[in-house]
Formats: sequence, C-alpha cells, structure tokens
Amino acid sequence: MHQILIVEDEPDISTLLAKILSSAGYHAKQAFSGTEALLLLGQGLPDLILLDLMLPGLNGETLLHEIRETMGSDLPIIILSAKSSLKDKVALLQHGADDYITKPFEPEEVAARVAAALRRSGKNPAAPAALSYKGLLLYPDSRKALANGRELSLTAHEYGILHLLMQAPEKVYSRERLYELVWEGGYYGENNTVNVHVSNLRKKLKAAGITEEYIQTVYGIGFKLC
Ligand code: CA
Repeated sequence: MHQILIVEDEPDISTLLAKILSSAGYHAKQAFSGTEALLLLGQGLPDLILLDLMLPGLNGETLLHEIRETMGSDLPIIILSAKSSLKDKVALLQHGADDYITKPFEPEEVAARVAAALRRSGKNPAAPAALSYKGLLLYPDSRKALANGRELSLTAHEYGILHLLMQAPEKVYSRERLYELVWEGGYYGENNTVNVHVSNLRKKLKAAGITEEYIQTVYGIGFKLC
C-alpha cells in the first residue's frame, strides 16, 4: 500500500485528507508542522507528500526546498494551498513541486491528483487490488481487512460477509442469501447465525475506530452497507 505523508497544521483539513486517502486505498501519515514532517521523513520516505504552505515554524516553501536538497527529486510532492495566483504556482513548480491543489478542494480532485502523481513517478503501475468503503480496506488476495490502517482480526465467515457487502454496497442481502453465499450452502432454517456474525463484525469495526454505522439492518429484509 502506498504511504502518503500529509503535512497540514489544520486538524480538520488533515483528517479530511487522511479519510480521502484511506478511502482511495492509501496509507496516510499526518504531520502537523514542518518540523514534525522532517522528523517523520527521517524515519523513512513515503511514496508521496501532500504539503500545505502556511505552516507554523518551518513553512511549506522551506520544507519543499529542504526535501529537494537533501532527499532528491524522486519523491512526488503536491502542494496544497489557498494561494492560487499563477505566479505562485509557477514558482512552486520551479522549486520542485510536482503539482498544486488549491484550497478548498474536492475529495475527487485530491484522489485523482495523488493517483496521477504516483503514476508519473512510476510508483503506481496498477491500482491496489483492494475493496474500499468508509475507511475500511479489504484485500481479497490475502483476505486481510484494514480499518483506518490497522489490520482487523476476522473469522472466515465475518470476512466473507464483509467481502460480499463491500462488492455491492447498495445491495440488500437477505439473511438466507448471505448464509447461502458465505456458508456456501446448507440449510439456513430458523437460527440466527447470520445475525450473530453481523453483530460481532459491528463490534470489531467499532473497536477498530470505525465509529459511524457501517452495516445497516434493513427491517424485514436483511443487511446492506450504510
Ligand atoms: Ca495551514
């Protein structure tokens, strides 16, 4: 999974960016000042940096210069700023920025520009083979699930339910149908096996920090993603 470093001092914007990136299948790290960014960069380079210009202490321009001087020109850096004059943009591109996003931004634009910059840098030959929905990522190849970047410990049936729902977030599955598909046959009968598994799954998602409702009970029918 590609690591993206967000350098942004406003917590709300930083959180929004982290959400956009994790839904797009990236792993986001957050630095809230230029100094913190340098510290994190010292621990290992990400695949791309989203860099705000107006930062307390070490500002974005200085940081951009510093990174290009000491860490070379390979690392894609996208500038985020409310400054939007052509002169500003040209100056930043001349100083080694790869792209420029003007605040306020649309989530789709951020995701698209990040993907494009990674592609240009040769770091993104193919999109990650993952299903993504509201901060949760599923890797069908390895049957792994990541919630906000942390791996969830799921039983095979819990994983199966999640996989099915995430493939078609709008679709409502009846308990019987879920049972057939996830347990691969067998008689559903009167038992509440599916309910128990969905309930355990909800607990695990909540424990992993997914606070919003994730799996919706559709009364009298079954389940779908919220
Ligand atoms: Ca700022």
